[in-house]
Amino acid sequence: GLTLSLAACGQSANGVGDGASGAAKGDAKGGLVGIAMPTKSSERWINDGNNMVKEFQAKGYKTDLQYGDNVVENQVAQLENMITKGAKLLVVAAIDGSSLTNVLQKAADAHIPVISYDRLIRGTKNVDYYATFDNYKVGVLQGTYIADKLGLKDGKGPFNVELFAGSPDDNNANFFFNGAMSVLKPYIDEKKVVVQSGQTAFNQVATLRWDGGVAQSRMDNLLSKSYTSARVDAVLSPYDGISIGILSSLKGVGYGTAGKALPIVTGQDAELASVKSIIAGEQTQTVYKDTRELAKVAVQMGDAVLTGGKPEVNDTTQYENGAKTVPAYLLQPVSVDKENYSKVLVDSGQYSADQLK
Ligand code: BGC
Repeated sequence: GLTLSLAACGQSANGVGDGASGAAKGDAKGGLVGIAMPTKSSERWINDGNNMVKEFQAKGYKTDLQYGDNVVENQVAQLENMITKGAKLLVVAAIDGSSLTNVLQKAADAHIPVISYDRLIRGTKNVDYYATFDNYKVGVLQGTYIADKLGLKDGKGPFNVELFAGSPDDNNANFFFNGAMSVLKPYIDEKKVVVQSGQTAFNQVATLRWDGGVAQSRMDNLLSKSYTSARVDAVLSPYDGISIGILSSLKGVGYGTAGKALPIVTGQDAELASVKSIIAGEQTQTVYKDTRELAKVAVQMGDAVLTGGKPEVNDTTQYENGAKTVPAYLLQPVSVDKENYSKVLVDSGQYSADQLK
């Protein structure tokens, strides 16, 4: 049959991945799927994991869902364990996108295909497909929100804006930052946006492991060094957990009290605490990514790879990982603020109106 001849000529079952021949064994349908998620400290990953388990099980697969607690060694050990247990497929949201080369070589040696989930796995050809959102667009939505709210297009300014980026070991963080800077940089060049701290390079503004506490300390420093007399008008924040940390810092020096309005603060993921903060008039914006849809994409890809089908992709150029360009399916992110949260988040069933009270 088809799968046998593919196996015989040493090609991957999907015709794209290298060494991914899980389907060639013929017993992959209904087999074990290993799902490695980074951390439970953010709701989104809990939902991603649960949604994939549900979807894979509905298609008859068994699942092994593991969280790495944001520790790289944990995630590597979890993947090794999945391989040992005979997993037919790995779906991985990496903690550090560049640290999985060895373990994924073991997966390839065992003919286990790999789907990179949300975050691109870098530096190895042993990754077959990538399910994610348009990550550059996420940043564009954040940058555009700041520009629109400040009236930069109408020539207003100058305004003081500080910049935060995500974890330097997460490929997405660069995409988010570059997307946001594609909007903000021209205004910085024109001096309509002033970064009083002078910190505008990715490595100066990155936040290791997306840690809200780390962001809060950095914001404390920025406020005490650069804003004793100047006012912060907006903060580019890449992720809700970071936004909450930034807001705590701002509130600590009196922003949000009479006569001292909070600055515009962006975010990402529409986490419950941040949506409530938006409703309460503290955080200003977030970027919603429907992880139910992402789970569906990943499961569809996985099922196709394991049954000799062809996963649907819509981007084959953007996600070069240092060893190959990984074929990807990108979903669309949506900007959310006080005006549209009910329509986007409640009408879609992401949250009930009660949850947001
Ligand atoms: C994800 C974001 C998330 C961040 C922190 C990124 O890779 O794309 O949705 O906010 O990680 O968990």
